[in-house]
Formats: sequence, C-alpha cells, structure tokens
Amino acid sequence: MTSLSLAAPSVPVTRRRWLWWSMLVALIAVAQTWLVSLTIDFQASRAQQRVDATTSAVAGALRHRLFVDTQRLSALADSRQSAAAWRQEAQALLLSQRELLRVELRDRSLKIVDALDNPLHKPLFSDFPRDQLDFATQNACLAARRAGQPQYSQSYFVPLGNGLGEEVMDLCIARVVDDRLGGYLVGSISLASLLESVESPAVANDNEVSFIEGDGTRVVRTGSPHGAGVFVADRVVNVPGHSLQLHLDSASGRPGVIPNLTTALVLGLSLLLFGVVLVLAHDVRRRAQAERALGESLAFRKAMEDSVLAGLRARDMQGRVTFANQAFCDMVGYAPSQLLGRDEQAYWPARDAAATEGGQGGAGYETEFVSSAGRRFPVMIHESPLLDRIGRQTGWICTALDLSSQRRIEEVSRRQQDRLQASARLATIGEMASLLSHELNQPLSAIASFATGSINLLDEPQPLPVQPSLLRQALERIAEQTERAGRIIRSVQDFVRRREHERHAIDADRLIDTIMPLVRMQARRSACRVEIDVEQPTPTVLCDRTMVEQVLINLARNGLQAMEQVPPQVDPLLRIDVRRLDDGMVEFAVSDRGTGIGDEVRAQLFTPFFTTRDEGMGLGLSLCRTVVEQHGGSLDFDNLLDAQGRVVGACFRFTLPAAASRDDPLPVEHPSHA
Ligand code: ADP
Repeated sequence: MTSLSLAAPSVPVTRRRWLWWSMLVALIAVAQTWLVSLTIDFQASRAQQRVDATTSAVAGALRHRLFVDTQRLSALADSRQSAAAWRQEAQALLLSQRELLRVELRDRSLKIVDALDNPLHKPLFSDFPRDQLDFATQNACLAARRAGQPQYSQSYFVPLGNGLGEEVMDLCIARVVDDRLGGYLVGSISLASLLESVESPAVANDNEVSFIEGDGTRVVRTGSPHGAGVFVADRVVNVPGHSLQLHLDSASGRPGVIPNLTTALVLGLSLLLFGVVLVLAHDVRRRAQAERALGESLAFRKAMEDSVLAGLRARDMQGRVTFANQAFCDMVGYAPSQLLGRDEQAYWPARDAAATEGGQGGAGYETEFVSSAGRRFPVMIHESPLLDRIGRQTGWICTALDLSSQRRIEEVSRRQQDRLQASARLATIGEMASLLSHELNQPLSAIASFATGSINLLDEPQPLPVQPSLLRQALERIAEQTERAGRIIRSVQDFVRRREHERHAIDADRLIDTIMPLVRMQARRSACRVEIDVEQPTPTVLCDRTMVEQVLINLARNGLQAMEQVPPQVDPLLRIDVRRLDDGMVEFAVSDRGTGIGDEVRAQLFTPFFTTRDEGMGLGLSLCRTVVEQHGGSLDFDNLLDAQGRVVGACFRFTLPAAASRDDPLPVEHPSHA
C-alpha cells in the first residue's frame, strides 16, 4: 500500500519563513521612518521656500513703493507754483501716500521754510522739537547735494508721547532753480506705515515682518502673529544713501512628527493589510489545491483498497484493528464496524502461535483464520511495520491471502497421487503374489500328485512287491519339491535381507531434516503446527536410512491425518522427540493431538490391510513394525491423556540402535529376524 505523504513543513523551513517575516517587518519599519523624515524635510523646505518667496515679494514691493515716493516727492520738489498751490499739492501727496508723515521745504542753509504734516497722523514733531532730531536729515541733504540726486537718511526714532513714537527715515531732494541750488525738499517716511502699505493681509496673517539693523536689533515690526523663529528670511533693500534690512519670520513652526507618523502608519498598515490579503489569498489557493490533491489521492487509495483482491488490515501497537479493506471483511465475514477497534481473537485464534512461528520480519507466514460462519481456512500473511511521518512505528500493516482454493487444488492432486501410489503398491503386491503363487504352484501340485499317488499305492487291496520302492520314490519326490518351494521362499527372504546390509551411522537430526519438507507440506495442508525436539548433542543411529525415513514419514502422516477433524478449540500440534535411552538405543517419539486409538482399532493396528480410512491401505504400521524390528528395535504406541483422563492424542514410539560414532564402519552383526 502506498502511504499518503503530504509535504510536511520541516523545522528549517519554519525558521526560514520566520526570518523572511522579520526581515519584511524591519524593512517596512525602516521605510516608514524614512518616509516620515522625508515628508518632514520636504514640508520644511516647502515652508522655507514660501518664506523666501514672500520675503522677496515684500522686498520688491518695498523698492517699488519707495521708488514711487521718490518720484512723487521729486515732482513736488520741482514744482514752481505759488506757495499756496504748492501746499495744496503737498497736502494731496500726503493724503495719497500714507507712509509720508511730513514734507518740509528748506532753504539752501537747510533752514525749514515751510512744513506740512500728514493730516491723518499725529504731527510728527508735536512732542519733540525738530531741530534736536535733524542731524541725519541734514547729512542726507548734504549727500543729496553732493550726489545731485535724492538721498535717504539713516532712520531715527521720533517720540510721540505716552511711550509711543515713530521710526522715521527722511528723503532729501536738492531743488535746482536756474541751475543753482535753490533749497531742499525733505519727506519723512514712517517705516511702520511703509511696511503696512506693502504687505498683503495674507502675509500679515502668517508672518511677522520687520526691519532690523545690522546687529539684529528690531527697528519696526508688523504682522499679527509672532514669528516662531524657524522659517526666517532676510533681504536687503538698498535705497540711495541707506540700506534697509527686511526680516520675515513665519509663524508656523517645524513640521510635527505625529501627523506625519499617523499618515505613514495608516499608509503602512494599509499596505501591510494589502500584503496580508495577498498572502492569505495565495495560502487559501494553495490549501484548496492541497485539499483537492488530498481528496483525489484519498479517492484513489479507497478505490485501490476496494479493488485489490488481497485482504488489507492494519493494527495498532496494542493489536487492535485500525483498518480493514473490503476484501479482508469479505474474507473473514465481518462488517468493518465489527472489526475496527477490536482485537483479532474473533477471526484469528492462532494469532499467538503465528506470531511466534512468525514472520514479524516481513517475510510471509501461513496461519489460519476462522470466518464469522466458523469456517477455518488457511491464509498467507505478509506483515510489515506501519510507520508514521517521522518514521515512528505506530502498528502493523499486513496483506492476507486466502489459500483455501490453492489448498483444495493441492489436496485434489495429493489424493490423486495417494491413489496412484496405492494402486501401484497393490499392483506390485498382486504381481508378487501371482509370481509367488505361480512359482509355488508347481512344487505344490507336484507334491500333491506324489502324495495322491502314494495314498493310492497304500490303498491297493493287494500290495505289489514293488510297493515299498515306489512309495520311497514318491516320498523322495515330495521332499525334493518341498525343498524347491523352500528355496523360492528363501529367495524372497534373501531379497529382504539384502537391505539389511545397507546400514549407516547417521545423525538423528539429519534424518529429521530430510523428512521435514514433506512433513511440513502435509502439516500446512491440515493446518497443523510441527515441533521438533532432538536431544543435544544429537544422537547417532545405525540404520537403513531410506527405510527409517519411510517409518518416520508414515507415523507423522498418520498423526497429521488424525488431527484433520479436531474441534476449533484444539491447537493441532505434531511433535517429534528424539532422545538417547540407557540401553544403547535411541528413541523416536511421534505424538499428535488427534483422536487417539480406539479399543477396536488397537487390537488390529498392526494387522496388514487393516485401515479405517477410505483411501488407506492398512500396510503402513505393519511395514513400520517390520522395518523397526529388522533393525533390532521395537515399535509401540500409547494414547495421550489429560489431567481428567480424557484421550487427547496418540504417541507412537520406536527405537533404533545407537552408533558408537557417526563414522562407524558398516557393522556385520545384526540380530536376525526371519
Ligand atoms: P493407513 O494409514 O493406510 O490407514 P496404517 O496401518 O498406517 O494404515 O494405520 C491403520 C489405522 O490405524 C488407521 O486407519 C487409523 O485408523 C489408525 N491409526 C494409525 N495411526 C493413528 C494415530 N496416530 N491416531 C489414531 N489412529 C491411528
């Protein structure tokens, strides 16, 4: 039977799979971390780019605004209108440019001639006198005159009371009248208003925008929030005579790990989930395939078990049946449910015997089963150990072949052979008898006629004178013929005696070995066991080997035949024991567990032609006794009795002379038996 083997995961495969899984998890973790840090970096650089761009835009707007202021103020400086009209124009300019807090007209010696404050703003020098804050302005005007173009002054702080004030930067333009310096126009620009005028609400909402000085001191700041100090940018806005440093500080801080980690985790988990689903799907497919294959091979196995003609049976280590195929159930006549889980006593009474004689090694052995209907039949068992996947023995599996039909054929041919032999023997005996009678007939009839002649002579009323000599002659003829008959008989005896010279020293166990194949064959036929016990060292006997072997075969066959009809509870056993006796003889005992010898049989046992069997000749035992006695031994028998005195079998014993040694020369002297 083929054992079904599914690929079993071995330990290294499991370990390798764990290794793969751990590597996968580690990879995912590394990838996730990397992803998170990349995301954070990306967000940070995006934020920085935004701040840089915003700063550049604000700086550009600043430059443009200051350029416009310069243009407008230059136009005002060049205006040649009346004083009142100029004031009007200046007023309009102050209203349109909110960062312009004040315009002054100064003469050539920088003295203020006229000044106009922005009406939307508190007058700049209302709390603090102008002449005390004029240094930077005068410097710018001097520079403007020198350069011939408008110049900005350094910024300076103008206090406005209540701790407030305004950081201001002046633009000074030299006025040229008829190609000569006619005076100056000074415009004061509030840095805070300048910043407010250029920044959009979006910029102001997200950033803190300020002007700082070279040492980092903040001069002016706008924008609603405070900067976080993470994403910052600086731009220098160069104007003639002065540089403003613009500083932008974004309110948003460093991108957080947590929101990014969550995203990454969700992403990773979903990836993982997807992977797991893929793996599961793959696994399910493989499982389904394996199940299909398993189903097919199970069906195949079942079909095989059912169609195979030999019985298949498995049993566990305790001897309980764990499996029996249909052929086996049919053979023993039990349903599978009646067999499974039971031990084998039901159909296999000879189990223990078979196990001891046994073929536990896998070679076949013969034993006998009893069907549920009580029929005993011979079976050939081939048994081998049943191993599980890891090679551990879990029981036994065997095939059982019913040998009944084979036995029937053997039996028929044996009967035919027996009959042939018997008729051959009869023919030989008949032939011998007719030969003997023919040979003896002549002298006997001669004797009869001489005797009749002699009687006639004696009955003559008148005796003849030659009567005595005639009588003498007749008696002499009778004696001659008697002598001849005796010779004929002796020649037959001589033939028998000639065999007496065929004596050899031979080991008893060699005698037994020679007959065993034949005996075992007959034992199998009658489902009997055979046990041999030869005393050791093996005795040596002096005998005509062929004749003694014939005696042993006869006795063994009689014993086996006597056990053919024993009831099932009897264990049919034939024993042959050989042992030395004290008187220089060796005893052979053949015992059986058969019917024993009944009283009416006992009396005629050794009578030639007495038999109780249909195909028997009744010569076996008488010939056996003749052969044994010719060897100087004796043959007798006994019934075997159990403790209650019941007959349980028969035992036939005979003795043969022991040889001094196996290499004895052929003996010359024998007790003679005519
Ligand atoms: P055959 O075997 O041809 O019948 P035998 O002379 O060998 O002739 O045996 C004569 C008879 O003796 C047998 O028919 C049988 O009835 C009886 N007999 C011989 N041996 C045994 C035995 N071991 N047990 C019982 N009966 C026996």
